Amino acid sequence: MSSWEAQLKASIDPVVQRSKTVDAVVVGSGVLQQDAPLLTSHFGATTAVLVADDRSFEAAGRQVDAALASADIAVTRQVYPAEPRLKASVENTAAIVEAVRRTGGLPVAVGSGVINDLTKHAAFQLGQPFFCVATAASMDGYASAGAPLSDRGFKHTIPCAPPRVMLADLDVLGKAPAEMSGWGYGDMAGKLPAGADWIVADALGIEAIDDVAWPLVQDNLRDWLSAPAAVAAGDPRAMGFLFAGLVLSGLAMEFHGSSRPASGADHQIAHLWEMEDVAFRGVPVSHGACVALGTLTVVSLYDWLQAQDLSGIDARAVVGNRASLAEEEAEIQRRFGAGTIAQRSVVETRAKHPSDAVLLARIDHIKAVWPALRDRLAEFLMPMDELRAMLDQAGVVTDPLQVGISRAHHRDSVLAARFIRRRYTILDLLNDLGLLDSAVESCFGTDGVWSPTDRPMRQTADGL
Ligand SMILES: [Zn+2]
Repeated sequence: MSSWEAQLKASIDPVVQRSKTVDAVVVGSGVLQQDAPLLTSHFGATTAVLVADDRSFEAAGRQVDAALASADIAVTRQVYPAEPRLKASVENTAAIVEAVRRTGGLPVAVGSGVINDLTKHAAFQLGQPFFCVATAASMDGYASAGAPLSDRGFKHTIPCAPPRVMLADLDVLGKAPAEMSGWGYGDMAGKLPAGADWIVADALGIEAIDDVAWPLVQDNLRDWLSAPAAVAAGDPRAMGFLFAGLVLSGLAMEFHGSSRPASGADHQIAHLWEMEDVAFRGVPVSHGACVALGTLTVVSLYDWLQAQDLSGIDARAVVGNRASLAEEEAEIQRRFGAGTIAQRSVVETRAKHPSDAVLLARIDHIKAVWPALRDRLAEFLMPMDELRAMLDQAGVVTDPLQVGISRAHHRDSVLAARFIRRRYTILDLLNDLGLLDSAVESCFGTDGVWSPTDRPMRQTADGL
């Protein structure tokens, strides 16, 4: 084991030991051959249901299948076509549930996002643990205690246990399509604005930073993001740290009991696009790409906010002019229509809408802490240009126009995102200060960072 592999193990093992749901995370070059022994030692399994799609079966499934067979473990295959892209839906878990019921085999997910989520939910329905062989460092959902699936058309995260054992062979991850590693990098970059949002909520006394979850995500984040070109090239070391970061983010959410450690306004914007089924040329835009774009958007708002002097804000005037709860609910109906998203948004918005007295006190508090808070944010965040260059190097999209999201749509999403979750973020801070419209106007105006004529597209639609 090389020194960096030992370092990787040292960062993962103590955290996994504290997890109530995950027993082992094995990351390294050539570790795929440990699949059969892990299956026997952690599950005592003698039969398995191998879940994959055509592509992940070629990437690792065939090897897993052969290794299990040679260890006298009977394997049933549930291999989905890779095209058209498999949907993360409750309906698609039925075949896995049926195969497990029929054979009594241990579910073994060989794949990334959708394969892992489908298997996770199938195992949960059966009240069983499962084993995951990762094939790409493409998202932070491997270790998360939930599966984002659509159920008869409505997408939500269904609580269910993560895999008991995860195996990530860096030779396999390194051969995944570069764009998939870029998605994982984009999801990881989202931990920057997510951290900034938590700093804000903490400074305002709304949601305290948790000493257990915060360091798991934030202490090594700069390291995990430090080699975007190596991630794009599939370098094993870069893949190892990226995968570790994604898994540790998942475990931080488990320890904290919510996704606050890993998700803020960046994910709210991404979730909106995912619920709208944003697709480019018929292919759904991945979670990681949506998060990368949400991340840059939120960082651009932080750049704007940090340049503001808040001392002149008249708190009474802001409270006098702000939208009432009834007006906010009317805005929700206008933006989302009458469906489930609107209904949920009303509940979430009611949960965080402050009374006049609370808002008045909050604005005075923000003004008092702003100089120190601004310094902390400046130290913690990086400017949007710097982050955009890193995401570019990692090969992930950096402008919503590249995936067919127009400026008007993008702008609407920024204004709508705060309604879908009660979690306090920069969008709420700006709204509380009466500055949300000015911030959006500035960023999306003719001289703004999201001006349609701001800069030439690096990648044309044809280049994707
Ligand atoms: Zn995510």
